[in-house]
Amino acid sequence: MRITAHSPPARSWQVLPSRIGILLGILWALPLTLLGALLLMLPTLLLRGRIDIVMRPTPALLVRGPLADRMLEGHPFGAMCAMAIGHIVIAQRQGLTARILTHELAHVRQAAHWGFAFPVIYLAASIWAFLHGEDAYWNNCFEVAARRAEQEA
Ligand SMILES: [Zn+2]
Repeated sequence: MRITAHSPPARSWQVLPSRIGILLGILWALPLTLLGALLLMLPTLLLRGRIDIVMRPTPALLVRGPLADRMLEGHPFGAMCAMAIGHIVIAQRQGLTARILTHELAHVRQAAHWGFAFPVIYLAASIWAFLHGEDAYWNNCFEVAARRAEQEA
């Protein structure tokens, strides 16, 4: 069997900067990822959950299972389909669409950019929106960017 490439393969020196950037983002967000692994991933996996590896456009671990369903449905800020902590995306087994995954992977990239300070900066963005008379979630600049990523996907 012959596999034909539609574009010339990238040379190793061309992809090296992006791979270094991805690796630095993973390391920079590692405290958040470990927190997500401890609080969300491990309990979900122990109770008949599963994990999938997402590589593009952003590397992440996608965790789903009955416990994830219950945690997301009973989230204190309201029911949600998915959420991201570091490089871990926890999602409901039903209802995860490509659009929702794109949204959560945008949050993964934000965490890779801001590192372990991301939750504090995210909260500050919500406070900023609220102080300007806007909705703390809907008008949070990180949520606006994630919705924009959905549109561009
Ligand atoms: Zn979001």
